[in-house]
Amino acid sequence: MELTPFEVAKKQIDVVAEEMGLDPNLTKYLKRVERALIVTIPVRMDDGSLEIFEGYRVHHSTVRGPGKGGLRYSPEVNLDEVKALAIWMTWKCSLLNLPLGGAKGGVCVDPRKLSKRELERLTRRYTSEIINIIGPDIDIPAPDVNTNAQIMAWIMDTYSMNKGRSVPGVVTGKPIEIGGSVGRESATGMGLYYTLEAMCEKLNLDFKSYKIVIQGFGNVGGTIAELLFKEGCKVLAVSDISGGLYYSEGLEIEKLLKWTKEGNYLKDYTDERYDLITNEELLSIECDVLIPAALENQITEKNANDIKCKIILEGANGPVTPEADKILLNKGIHVIPDILANGGGVCVSYFEYVQDIRAYFWELDRINRELKKIMLKAFEEVYELSKERNIPLRTAAYIIAISRIAKAIELRGIFP
Ligand code: GLU
Repeated sequence: MELTPFEVAKKQIDVVAEEMGLDPNLTKYLKRVERALIVTIPVRMDDGSLEIFEGYRVHHSTVRGPGKGGLRYSPEVNLDEVKALAIWMTWKCSLLNLPLGGAKGGVCVDPRKLSKRELERLTRRYTSEIINIIGPDIDIPAPDVNTNAQIMAWIMDTYSMNKGRSVPGVVTGKPIEIGGSVGRESATGMGLYYTLEAMCEKLNLDFKSYKIVIQGFGNVGGTIAELLFKEGCKVLAVSDISGGLYYSEGLEIEKLLKWTKEGNYLKDYTDERYDLITNEELLSIECDVLIPAALENQITEKNANDIKCKIILEGANGPVTPEADKILLNKGIHVIPDILANGGGVCVSYFEYVQDIRAYFWELDRINRELKKIMLKAFEEVYELSKERNIPLRTAAYIIAISRIAKAIELRGIFP
C-alpha cells in the first residue's frame, strides 16, 4: 500500500534515527508537529453564492527559529500532506544552517477555478484565520505550488492592516516593490543548478551537453529548464498537470515558457515535432538527469525500476518514496535529495526576511553569491559525510539536519 506523505516523512526519520543512533525519545518527538491549525474559509463568490474552503498551517519545529515554509493552493491539499511538508522544511532550514524552523500551509482549492477577486478574498480570509500563528518572529509563509508574489502581497497587506503598521517581514516571495527580494523568484532553480554543477564536478561529468527530463513546469521546473537549456543541455521533456511534451532532439524551452506564462497548458501547445505524453511516461524516458519538480510521491516502488538516468535532482519536496530510494540505490542512480537540491528558494527567502527586518536591500549579484555560498557549503557537508560513511546523499543530509535540531533541543531542554 502506498504511504501518505506524512508516513513517508516519519519513515525517513526512522531510517536516519537508526543510522545515527538517535535517542528514541527524540525520534518520537521529531515525528510530531508542534501545532497544526485547521481553518474554515468562507468566500463570497462573484455570483453572490458562498463557497467554503478548508485551510491549514502547521508548525513542525521552531526550536532553531521561527517557522518557515510555503503555502500551497491545490485540490489535493490535506492535513497529512501539510504536516509532511512542514517536517521537510525543518530539515531543509537546518541543513542550510538558517536560523529558521519548519512550517507549511495549504488551502484545499483549485485556484484556476477562481477569479482574481475570489482568490484575493480567499487569501485574505485565510490570512486572518491564521493571523495569531504567523508573524516575523513566529512563522513566515512563502510561495509554493500554485501561489505567487501577488498572493504574498495580499497576505502581507492583510496582516499589516490588522497590526496597524506595515509588516513586510511576515511573508517572503513578495513583489520587489513592497519589500520582496531580487533573485527570489529564480532562487529555487538557481539552487538546483548550483547543486547539479557541484555534483557533476564530483563525478567528473560535464552536464552541459546532457539530456534532461523535467516533471513540472512552474516556477521551479520552468526556471531550471531555462537555465539548463541556455547552457546547451537538451531538455527532452517537460510536463504540467495537463500532461507533457517530448522531443528527442530537445524542446524549445523559451517558446514553451512564453506559452505557459500566458496561462496555457502544455497539452495545447502545437508543434508537430513534439509528442504528447503523460506524466507517468515522462518519468521513464531515458536521460542523464531527471528532475521531478512537481509534487511528492511521484517515484515509488511501482515505477522506480523504469527510471533510466544517472542523476535525480529533486526540485519538488518528497518526490521519491523510501521504497523507491532503495531501488534507485541498487540501480546506481545518484539522488540529490530535496532538502539540499531545492533549498535555494528558502535560502533567498531568508535573505528577503533579513532585508525586510533591516530595511536595507541587496543587489542581485550579492544575492546569488551568498546563495551559491550557502548551497555549496551544504552540498560539501552532505557529500563528504556520504562518502565517509558510505551512505546515500539523502541519509547524509538528514543526519546533518537532524543532528542540529537534536543539539538545539538538548541545549534548550524540554519546557518546563
Ligand atoms: N516553498 C518553498 C520550499 O518548499 C520555499 C519556502 C520558503 O521560502 O519559505 O522550500
